[in-house]
Amino acid sequence: MNILSSVVKYKCPRCREGELYKAPFKMSNPLDMHERCSVCGQRTEPEPGFYYGAMFLSYIVTGFLYLSIIGFCIMVLKWSVNQSFLLLLAFVALTYFKTARLSRSLWIHVVVKYDPNARNKPLTN
Ligand SMILES: [Zn+2]
Repeated sequence: MNILSSVVKYKCPRCREGELYKAPFKMSNPLDMHERCSVCGQRTEPEPGFYYGAMFLSYIVTGFLYLSIIGFCIMVLKWSVNQSFLLLLAFVALTYFKTARLSRSLWIHVVVKYDPNARNKPLTN
């Protein structure tokens, strides 16, 4: 599994097999993660406050995405600013949890290195 596929499918960054998030998805706790990868033992929160970095990634990615959507609506579709923002609000509401989960997944993939043999040498500390 390549890194992009692993990020999008919320797989463990070290072995790319274990799941990062608990299933099924719960609205009460959308970011509920396993404490460790079930396959290689990688901690999903390596240190306290680890996911503050994900917040900045999320800000950058969504900033460019939302600007592109607004720009497309105004310049290509010739919509008014109000119509464009209304569409953007709907889009943000629909993709909010997906974005939050994706940015956490992206962040841990940036920090934790892939190890193809991780399954055979599980982490315990
Ligand atoms: Zn793993």
